[in-house]
Amino acid sequence: MEIKKDHINFSVGPVRIPADIARLGAEPVPYFRTTDFSQLMLESESLLKKMMGAPENARAVFLTGSGTAAMDAAVNGLFTKSDKLLIVCGGSFGHRFCEISEAYGIPYDAIELENGQPLTAAHLKSYEAGGYTGFLVNMHETSTGVLYDMDLIGDFCRRNHLILVVDAISAFLADPLNMEELGADIVLTGSQKALAVPPGVSMMVLSSRAVERVFDHQPACYYLSLKAALKNGERGQTPFTPAVGILIQINARLNQINAVGVEAERERIRCIATDFRTRIQNYPLRMFSQAPSNAVTSLTPVSSEVSAFHIFEVLKEEYNIIVCPNGGDLAEKVFRVGHLGNLTIADNDALFAALDDLLRRGILHG
Ligand SMILES: *Cc1c(COP(=O)(O)O)cnc(C)c1O
Repeated sequence: MEIKKDHINFSVGPVRIPADIARLGAEPVPYFRTTDFSQLMLESESLLKKMMGAPENARAVFLTGSGTAAMDAAVNGLFTKSDKLLIVCGGSFGHRFCEISEAYGIPYDAIELENGQPLTAAHLKSYEAGGYTGFLVNMHETSTGVLYDMDLIGDFCRRNHLILVVDAISAFLADPLNMEELGADIVLTGSQKALAVPPGVSMMVLSSRAVERVFDHQPACYYLSLKAALKNGERGQTPFTPAVGILIQINARLNQINAVGVEAERERIRCIATDFRTRIQNYPLRMFSQAPSNAVTSLTPVSSEVSAFHIFEVLKEEYNIIVCPNGGDLAEKVFRVGHLGNLTIADNDALFAALDDLLRRGILHG
């Protein structure tokens, strides 16, 4: 079975991998219980901490598993049944934090937001001094394209002495993020989003307070134990066989980004997103999110007669372009255009040429 791989990829992950990084994936996979591999891992830890603006004595952990593995490990590693969590639930990734907490029997309240709506001070007001111990948020709720006001959340957590868990899986490198200034205790990301490496590894940086908390608890999950990961990580190793090849690609990418600076990479992504958003204003598509992340633009057809899912299908089948469809209630209403990975303005040109054609064919109008 061959599947098509030459689409222009505007999905939000796996995204288009830079050619030199992709080539690394074709090389032999080395044995990993060696000092060479340990050194590579320790270098990756230090680069990731630097890029996230980690506070002093922070630690980084690399888990084999997609982004959700990091969400799972953060919840089971930091919290127990005697905690009480507050979760921002504005889409499918917020909902996932609720499901993970439920799976471990950790009590929580969810701040339910309408799809596409930002979180405001008014939403948080009734939760002040509510006896919570932890706050979980997807910095960018990728399912709707909403970037939350992290300063508002950081202040709320400081005031209420909450452990702040930030899922920055799609926001890392796309939106401004400084772990220390934010006061976050743990920040998560994954390999297949802005890092533009194949899927299979998730990463996180933990504050010293979070590390202490992990060591205070008996882990509720064996494979995703942060305790085991942190202990082994002290010597640049992992408890089990990791996705060695992907870790090598991650190290190369971190070095690549470090060479230009994390701000330059953020700016590159911001420029591609801004170019797209300026040009899309002339089409019968509205931005769905009032507070968009630079990682993705979520769009809804102006005419309720037009199916967002149909636009995705036509672009894929007839123009060789992949955008991200939505699922569930939003399937007919919203599709998303990602700005992550090795994309250029010329790729935006190709997408707009296809959209012009859809206009001519009457597909974008009801
Ligand atoms: C992609 C993503 C995840 C992780 O999804 P996986 O499919 O497990 O990699 C988690 N949270 C957010 C906000 C994401 O964008």
